[in-house]
Amino acid sequence: MNFNIVCIPGDGIGPEIVAEAKKVLNKIAEKYGHNIAYKDILMGGASIDVYGEPLTDEAIKVAKAADAVLLGSIGGNASTSPWYRIAPELRPEAGLLKLRKTLNLFANLRPAYLYEELQEACPLRENVVSDGFDMIIVRELTGGLYFGERSTREINGILTALDTLSYTEKEIRRIAVKGFETAMKRRKKVTSVDKVNVLDSSRLWRKVVEDVARDYPEVSLEHMIVDNCAMQLVKNPKQFDVILTENMFGDILSDEASMITGSIGMLPSASLNDTKFGVYEPSGGSAPDIAGKGIANPIAAILSAAMMLRYSFDLENEAGEIETAVKQVLSEGYRTVDIFPQDKSQYGVVKQVDTETMGSLIAEHI
Ligand code: NAD
Repeated sequence: MNFNIVCIPGDGIGPEIVAEAKKVLNKIAEKYGHNIAYKDILMGGASIDVYGEPLTDEAIKVAKAADAVLLGSIGGNASTSPWYRIAPELRPEAGLLKLRKTLNLFANLRPAYLYEELQEACPLRENVVSDGFDMIIVRELTGGLYFGERSTREINGILTALDTLSYTEKEIRRIAVKGFETAMKRRKKVTSVDKVNVLDSSRLWRKVVEDVARDYPEVSLEHMIVDNCAMQLVKNPKQFDVILTENMFGDILSDEASMITGSIGMLPSASLNDTKFGVYEPSGGSAPDIAGKGIANPIAAILSAAMMLRYSFDLENEAGEIETAVKQVLSEGYRTVDIFPQDKSQYGVVKQVDTETMGSLIAEHI
C-alpha cells in the first residue's frame, strides 16, 4: 500500500515524539511492504514564528491532499510565551480549530486503556481495576453547545449570558455511525450517553442512535444518563467498550477516562471526518515544561500512528502489532520518567529510558 502522510510536528515535545512515531511507522512499512511518503507542515507557534499565523491556507491545502495527518502537539506556556501576546485568532490553538473546522473533523475517538504494568499509576482502588479496562470514547466534535450561538447582554437590567445547544438529525446520525463502526472493530457494545430526562437534544439523540443501531444487529446498545456515566467510570470502568456521546459530555467524560488510566503520555486520539481521512494526535499537549529535554513519553504519538493504520488504512494487523510491541516493552520494564513507578519496591525491576530509546525499543519489537 502507498500512504501519503502529512506530519505536523508542532511545538514543545511535538517534534520529539513525532520523530519516534515515524520511526515505528517506518519499521511497519518495511516489514509489511508499504511505501510511506511524508510531508511536513507548520502549525501552532512554529507557524506563527515563520508566517505570523498559526496555520496558513497553503498548509491546509497540503493537509487536505494527504491520506492522513500525524500531529505532535501545539502551543506553549501561556504566561511566558510571546505566542500568547497576540490576538486570540492568531494564537497557536486557533490553528488546531481551523484544521478541525476546514477538514470537517466531526468525530473524536479517544481510547482509555489500563496497562497491567501501569496499574500503580491508576488512582482507583486495586479491586476496582484488577481486571483492567479498555474503552474508547467517540465524541461529537463540531456541534452542540460549543458551536451554538452565544451572547451576553443585559435583559431587564440584569446581565444575562446565553449559550445554545442544538443538534440536527444529520449531525447525530453521522457520529452514531462512527460509534457503531468503531464497536464493530472491538467488543461490539455501545453505551450512548445523554441527558434524556432534561434535554430535547438528548431525546433526538436517543431516537437517532436507536435508528442507526438497527443497521448494526451484532452490536448491543445501552443508554446511560451522563451523570450516571460519570459515576460508573470510577465505579466499574470495565463495563464500557464504546461510549458514544455529544460534544460537551464527551469533553468531560474523556478527560475523566484518561485520568483513571494514570498517564496522559500514553493516550492517543483520532479526529475523523466522513471519509477515511483523519488527524491523529496524542491526547496531551505540548508539555513545554519538559520540551527539549529528550524525556517525553512518545507512546501516545506511537499509538496515534497505530490508530491511523486502523482507521484510515484498515490495517488491523499492523495497528495491533504496534500495540503489542508497546505492551512488550512495558512488560520488559522500560519506562519514561512520567510513568516511572512511585512505589520504591518496583525500583530495580524497571529501567528509565529517554524518548529516543523508548521509540527504538518499540520499533525493535516489530
Ligand atoms: P500538557 O498535556 O502539555 O502537560 C500536562 C502535564 O503532562 C505536564 O506536566 C507535561 O510535562 C505532562 N505530559 C504531557 N504529555 C507528556 C508526555 N508525552 N510525556 C511526558 N509527560 C507529558 O498540558 P498543558 O501544560 O496544560 O498544556 C501545554 C500546552 O499544550 C498549552 O499551550 C496547551 O494549549 C497545549 N495543548 C495542545 C493540545 C494539542 O495540540 N492538541 C492539547 C492540549 C493542550
